Amino acid sequence: MHADGQSFHDVIVIGSGPAGMACALTAARGGASVLLADQRPGPGGAIFRVAIPGVPPVSLARAQKRLRDRLFAGLENTPAIQRLPEHLYLGLDADGLVMLEDRKAGQVKTFRCRILCLATGAMERVLPRPGWTLPGVMTAGGLQVMMKETGRAPAGRTVLAGSGPLLLAVAAQLARLGTPPLAVIEAGDPLRQLSAGLGLLRWPGLCLEAGGYVASLLTARVPWHRGARLTGIEAAADGLAAQWEDRHGRVHTLAADRVALHDGLAENSFGLAPSGSSQNAPGHPLVLHAGDCREALGAPAAACSGETAGEICLHVLAGRTEPAERLQQRLKTATSRYGKMQDLIARAFSPQGGAQHFTALPDDTALCRCEGRTIGDLRKLFTADPGLSGRELKLNGRFAMGACQGRFCAANTAAAVAELTGSSLPVSTITGHRWPVRPVPISSLIRLEPGKADHAEEAPQ
Ligand SMILES: Cc1cc2nc3c(=O)[nH]c(=O)nc-3n(C[C@H](O)[C@H](O)[C@H](O)COP(=O)(O)OP(=O)(O)OC[C@H]3O[C@@H](n4cnc5c(N)ncnc54)[C@H](O)[C@@H]3O)c2cc1C
Repeated sequence: MHADGQSFHDVIVIGSGPAGMACALTAARGGASVLLADQRPGPGGAIFRVAIPGVPPVSLARAQKRLRDRLFAGLENTPAIQRLPEHLYLGLDADGLVMLEDRKAGQVKTFRCRILCLATGAMERVLPRPGWTLPGVMTAGGLQVMMKETGRAPAGRTVLAGSGPLLLAVAAQLARLGTPPLAVIEAGDPLRQLSAGLGLLRWPGLCLEAGGYVASLLTARVPWHRGARLTGIEAAADGLAAQWEDRHGRVHTLAADRVALHDGLAENSFGLAPSGSSQNAPGHPLVLHAGDCREALGAPAAACSGETAGEICLHVLAGRTEPAERLQQRLKTATSRYGKMQDLIARAFSPQGGAQHFTALPDDTALCRCEGRTIGDLRKLFTADPGLSGRELKLNGRFAMGACQGRFCAANTAAAVAELTGSSLPVSTITGHRWPVRPVPISSLIRLEPGKADHAEEAPQ
């Protein structure tokens, strides 16, 4: 307990994926008092998502299974870690209080700590396309989560489109569960990127995993169209019609029940206080980012960066302070070899014919789903005022103004601006940093925690 009556922990870790679990284990084993919170009911994060009771866990590659078993056993055997499932991190308030929403109780709780380690993972990137907001269109990662939780593949005809190795993984999982997709439409062509492919041979486990996915697709006769792009989706009498263009510019249509899109992974760092910051104010914790929310490099790198963050926690708690840049460097060095691997994967899957995407989109393509703003609206704004700032784009154009506050559209909006105007607009200039990082009901904010002082009159910022 802190002097001001707030619950106190040496370290609060947000996110119980590989990074958060590794950080909590390292810090707790070194004697720190640790609180590990996650919005989900169980640990595991995106990769080790636990199936609903009665459903056997999905099969994992050997190295992934070893990592999962090690982290889960560690968590079971370290009762010193206080776990707080179904608690959503909302942010740090102006007094340095960590705000968590207890989702079951519908109540915001506040905590103090010396170090706040944010390990909130990655989120999927999905580029806008005509028809991408239609019912039946989802993300490939969302489809994968459904299969991990239920152990079943959805019935019907599925098309996977976009770019990246996750498309292959999801296609193979669908095939292994007995419902192979109609096709995988991949913008890149990893089989033609010889030097990247040769470089990746330094990671034999990864190559074996990828080979296993390709073998599943070959066995199930799933076409893997490389150097191809999905140009639009339309509602049809019996579901959806997905138009795609092959590497020679020929246009094809596939009738499907669902289209699952994926264009890569990006850090889920939306609205988070920067890593290394202690906001230079008394009572504020040191903030660290670990795992994919720091840099989306995959599960082994996430565990490695979580361990390093845990070691940093122990150093800081022992009174050994380091400048923020040194802390950042330590986290970067720990995962540098995984960075090289991800660079090669990105090269292998780089879209054929260049990365331009937004220029070719018709004006009525939705860009901001919450506010119904289109690429045409964006073009009009910049034609009228080419020097528009991020804040003006938000306030005048209503981009990133809706319920998600830009969590889903700001990165695409910034990329569209860069492509259309040639000038870069950092995402944070559109969204800013503030809490809550996710929408929270007012009833949760004003509901008092038993035994705590009445903060209801203090307006949140
Ligand atoms: C959709 C998806 C599918 C993937 N599929 C694969 C795959 O097939 N193979 C593969 O090798 N890698 C896959 N990855 C990548 C892999 O999951 C990650 O590299 C790895 O899990 C990163 O670990 P992490 O601990 O950094 O984050 P995560 O494992 O993502 O864990 C982050 C945790 O933080 C929690 N969280 C996030 N925000 C909040 C908040 N505000 N409050 C409270 N809790 C919060 C989440 O619930 C989650 O449990 C996938 C990633 C995604 C996003």
